Formats: sequence, C-alpha cells, structure tokens
Amino acid sequence: MKALSGYYYVKPLENGMAASGGGDAIQCRARGIFKKKGVTPLVGDHIRYSHTENGEGVVDEILPRRSELIRPPVANVDLAVLVFSVREPDLNLQLLDKFLVHIEHAGLDTVICLTKQDLLAEAKGEDPVALVQSLYENIGYQVIVSSSRLGLGTELLTERLKGQISVFSGQSGVGKSSLLNRLVPGLELETSAISMKLGRGKHTTRHVELIELPGGGFVADTPGFSQLDFLELGVEELSTCFREFASLAEGCKFRGCSHTHEPGCKVREAVENGHIAASRYEHYVQFLTEMKDKKRRY
Ligand code: GDP
Ligand code: ZN
Repeated sequence: MKALSGYYYVKPLENGMAASGGGDAIQCRARGIFKKKGVTPLVGDHIRYSHTENGEGVVDEILPRRSELIRPPVANVDLAVLVFSVREPDLNLQLLDKFLVHIEHAGLDTVICLTKQDLLAEAKGEDPVALVQSLYENIGYQVIVSSSRLGLGTELLTERLKGQISVFSGQSGVGKSSLLNRLVPGLELETSAISMKLGRGKHTTRHVELIELPGGGFVADTPGFSQLDFLELGVEELSTCFREFASLAEGCKFRGCSHTHEPGCKVREAVENGHIAASRYEHYVQFLTEMKDKKRRY
C-alpha cells in the first residue's frame, strides 16, 4: 500500500482482505476513526476494506501487525537483508554488529548478504567472506555471498525472500540498489554511479513502496535502519540483542549483569574461553559506552 495525499492503494487478497503494494491497486480512503485513534494504515498492513459506489474503497480495519518499522514506515516486515560489501567500501564489522543490534531489537529475521564478491578475485590478505561466515554462521545468521556484476547469489536470495516482506539495510554504496535490480527484472533503481553522474542526491524523501518480487514476496524500496543511534534501546536491552549472549547471561551471578566488571559473569567467561568472538564482545562494550554517553547528554 502506498499513501498519497490521504489515499491508500491496496491490493486485494480474498474475501474483503487486502495487502499492500503491487499492481491492481484499489484506491481507498481510511475511516475517520483511525485518525481519532492516532493510527494510520502503513505500507505492508493487512486491512479489511469495503467497496464504495465510485469504485474506490474504504479501509475499515487494520489487522494486528507482526512488526512495525518507523524508518521506513512499513508494517509486517519479516526479514532484514543486511547488505555489506566485501570491498569498496571495505567490510566494517563494528557497523555490521550495530545493524544487527537494531534488527534484533525490531524482532526481525536476518540474512547477511555479502556483495561485490567479484572484487575479491585478485585481492590479498584476509578473506572477508570466510571471516564473516566463521563469525556469524556459528551464531545462527545465514550468510549469502553475492555479486550483482556476475549474477552470483541471486537464486539463493530469491528463495529466501519468497513469501516475506523484507527491507534491505546497509550503508550507501554497498550495492543494495544493484542487487534489487538483479532480483527484479525490469526494475531500474538508480545506483550511486548514475545518481552521481546526474548530480542528484539519492536521499530525496518520498513515500515508501513495496516492490513485488517475481519469485514471491515484497521488498521495501527504501533502506531500513538508516539511523543507528541507540535512543530507542535501553542499556539493559543491549545484551539481549547479541543473540549468543542471551542464554549465557541467565547464568551470570548478578541479575542485571552488564557483562563488563561483575564477578561470576558467564558472558565474559565465554569470551575468555573463545565461545564468544572477541570482536562481538568488543563491539558490545563500545555500544554500551556510546549508549551511556548519549543518555547523559539527552
Ligand atoms: P547502494 O547505495 O547500496 O544502493 O549501492 P549501489 O547499488 O548504488 O552500488 C554502489 C556502487 O557499487 C555502484 O557504483 C555499483 O556499480 C557498484 N556495485 C554494485 N554491485 C556491485 C558488484 O557486485 N560488483 C562490483 N564490482 N561493483 C558493484
Ligand atoms: Zn554477565
């Protein structure tokens, strides 16, 4: 569903139910009651609607949401595809962990998609693909390696995105638009190369739309989690967003253990014996400090 000057564009499913996005959209207005309650239909919502005489519709009810993102405003997102390039820009594990924290906090499923695999051909030094696989597959994140240039990884991604509402996340320039263009034949999202040539910024604000995937499912056309401050996250919540800490933390000697200085801390014990990766713990401590600094300032 897209929202334009008070109209919502909905796609019918069966018996009066509707989902967002795609073609054959019906133009609907929302009942006044929503405004009074301070609720507005979001892209991705499942709604009930009825037809009006002029061939339009009225949104009668918004069905319960599985999830709700604020930036971009989309309801019922299932999956975040976290896009990082292996080169240009180089892999930044701290940033990757920061995205993961926000995605975990939003309660979404995640796939880590490594892009620009073609750039590894003549590269020397540590293999970023092997590094990411060893760090993240162990703790239950799926890693998909791709190259939009070579068409690598497209089938795996298509399979994973099937039947879901997804958002692509990652810093600009990692290849999100190129990847989407690969996944959806005929889609011609502007990539950085083009927008720079035309001299326009890529971040003009506009409404969000869901792009229908040929293999099934929808992807938001606007990247998710673009603002990675920790303002919506409580300090005690941070460790729950590091999924491999969660079950261990229950064994810590002190309730509300911050896993930094307390004796009898199972998380630190796991870092020392190598069950938790040093980089993950390091980032946890860095984020904790960042959060405490911010909370002091606001
Ligand atoms: P976005 O900002 O994340 O949407 O990234 P874009 O899709 O705009 O891509 C940024 C730049 O990376 C562009 O110059 C693309 O041509 C380039 N790029 C994207 N995918 C690949 C790839 O698989 N291999 C290589 N070598 N370059 C790529
Ligand atoms: Zn602890």
